[in-house]
Amino acid sequence: MAQGNTSKRQRPSAPTQRNQGHGKAHCLRILRQLSAYIDDELSGDICDEIRRHLGACPNCETFVTSLRQTVSLCRHSPTPPLSAANRALMRKTILETTRVR
Ligand SMILES: [Zn+2]
Repeated sequence: MAQGNTSKRQRPSAPTQRNQGHGKAHCLRILRQLSAYIDDELSGDICDEIRRHLGACPNCETFVTSLRQTVSLCRHSPTPPLSAANRALMRKTILETTRVR
């Protein structure tokens, strides 16, 4: 009865999911860069990369939208710079989100 026929096992549901150009690692990298973005430490190129990623990634876009509801990041609004408390809160939120579980 023991035929040992276990060399090839095919699962009906393929575990490989197709990403749209980036995986979760890319998301985490973007979110970490957002931490510097808050502090105005990013160059225009990186800001552009972040914006492009946000346009293609609903997960990150939702995250940033929720951040913006807390503190406005919009540069063309004449709001004063972020307070230290707001920066600390946003950085904490980002770090918690990007923490590897
Ligand atoms: Zn993403």
